[in-house]
Amino acid sequence: MADHDTFSPSLAFTLVFALALCAQLLLKFWLATRQMRHVARHSAEVPPPFAGRIPLAAHQKAAGYTLAKGRLGLLEIALGAAVVLGWTLLGGLDALNQALLALVGERGGGLLQQLALLAAFALINGVIDLPLTLYQTFVVEQRFGFNRMTLSLWLADMLKSTLVGVLLGLPLAAAVLWLMGAAGTLWWLWAWALWMGFNLLLMVLYPTVIAPLFNKFTPLADEALRQRITALLARCGFAAKGLFVMDGSRRSAHANAYFTGLGAAKRVVFFDTLLQRLTPDEIEAVLAHELGHFKHHHIGKRMAALFAMSLAGFALLGWLATQPWFYTGLGVRPNFLLAPGSQVPNDALALLLFALVVPVFGYFFAPLWAALSRRHEFQADAYAAAQASGAALASALLKLHEDNASTLTPDPLYVRFNYSHPPALERLARLPAPAANL
Ligand SMILES: [Zn+2]
Repeated sequence: MADHDTFSPSLAFTLVFALALCAQLLLKFWLATRQMRHVARHSAEVPPPFAGRIPLAAHQKAAGYTLAKGRLGLLEIALGAAVVLGWTLLGGLDALNQALLALVGERGGGLLQQLALLAAFALINGVIDLPLTLYQTFVVEQRFGFNRMTLSLWLADMLKSTLVGVLLGLPLAAAVLWLMGAAGTLWWLWAWALWMGFNLLLMVLYPTVIAPLFNKFTPLADEALRQRITALLARCGFAAKGLFVMDGSRRSAHANAYFTGLGAAKRVVFFDTLLQRLTPDEIEAVLAHELGHFKHHHIGKRMAALFAMSLAGFALLGWLATQPWFYTGLGVRPNFLLAPGSQVPNDALALLLFALVVPVFGYFFAPLWAALSRRHEFQADAYAAAQASGAALASALLKLHEDNASTLTPDPLYVRFNYSHPPALERLARLPAPAANL
C-alpha cells in the first residue's frame, strides 16, 4: 500500500468515520434513554388534557409497551453499530470479498463475484437481524396482545419477501454494476436514472402485484360507508381506482389506512382493524387527513426531495468510488490495489461501503426530515378539519393512540429526531375537542 504518511487521507477518513459512528451511537442511546425515563416518569397518571378520555390502564399499557420497545431498541442500536464496525474497520467486508475472489475469481468478467458479494452481504445481515425481529414479534408484540402471527405465517412471509427481494433486487443490482463498469465516468447519472425508474415501477407494482402476495384486498362492502367516502372523494376532487379493505388483522391488531399507487391507479386501503374500531364519522375524517396529504402535494414534494437527495448521493458515490482512501479508510483493500491489472472491479465494494456509511452521517440530519414530516401532518389535519369533522378526527386519533398503545407523553427531544407525526397532545391542541360521549 502506498500510504506511509502519518496523516494520510485514509487514516483521516478512518478517524472521521469512527468519530461519527461513536457520536451517532451515543446520540441514539441518549435520546432513547431520555424517552424511556420520560415515559416512566409520567406513567403514574393520565396527563390532564386526556383525563377522562383515556383510562389509566390504557395509559399504563402504553408506557409498558413503549418501555419494552425501548429496551429492545437499545439492543438494536448497539447491534447496528457493531455490525457497521464489523463490516468496515474490523475487516468483515474485506474478508468476505477475499473469500469470494478466491472462490469465484474473475469468471464472467467479475460480475459474478460482484453479485455474489452483494447477495452474501444481504444474506448475512438478514441472519444477524433475525433474532431481534423474532423477539419483537413473538415476545414484545405478543405480550401486549398485538401479535396475531403464527410461526408458519411468519416463515411464509419471510420466504415470500426474500423471493421478491431476489427477483427485483438481483436484476437491479446487475444493471447498476454493469453501468458502473460500462457507462464511463458519468455512470452515476445513468444509475440514478435507473434507480428512479425502479422506484416509480415499485409504486405501480406494490399495490397491484406485491401487496396482494401478503394480504387479501376486498372491495369495501359497507354500502353506506362507501357512499359517504365516495362523496368525500368527489367533494375533494379526488379520483381513486377503488376502495379496498385489507386483512391486516391476520398479522397484527395495529390499525391503519393508506393510499397507494400512481396517478389514476391510486387506491384507498383500509385495514379491517380500523373499520372495526372507528365510527363512520371517524373513518371519513381519517381519510380526509390522507386526502390532505395529496391536496398539499406532500407526496410529490417528498418524492422530489428524494430524487434530489439521491442524485447528490449518486454523484458523491461516483467520486468516492475512485478514491483509494474511501476503501482503505474503511478497512477494505480495493481490488485495484490488491491485484493491479485485474479484471475484477470494485463496484460492489463501493456500493456496500456507501450503503454502510451514509446512515452513520445521515442520522444527524434526521431532525430536518422529521420536522418537515410533522409540518405536513398538521397541514393534513387542518384539511381534514375543513373537509370532514375536526372533532371526529380528534376522537379517531385518541382511539388509535389507545389501541396502538402509543405513548401520550414522549420526550420532546426524542420527538424532534424520531417522530414523523406530531405527539397526540400537539395534534389535538389544534383540533376541536371531541364530543364528550365518544
Ligand atoms: Zn398523515
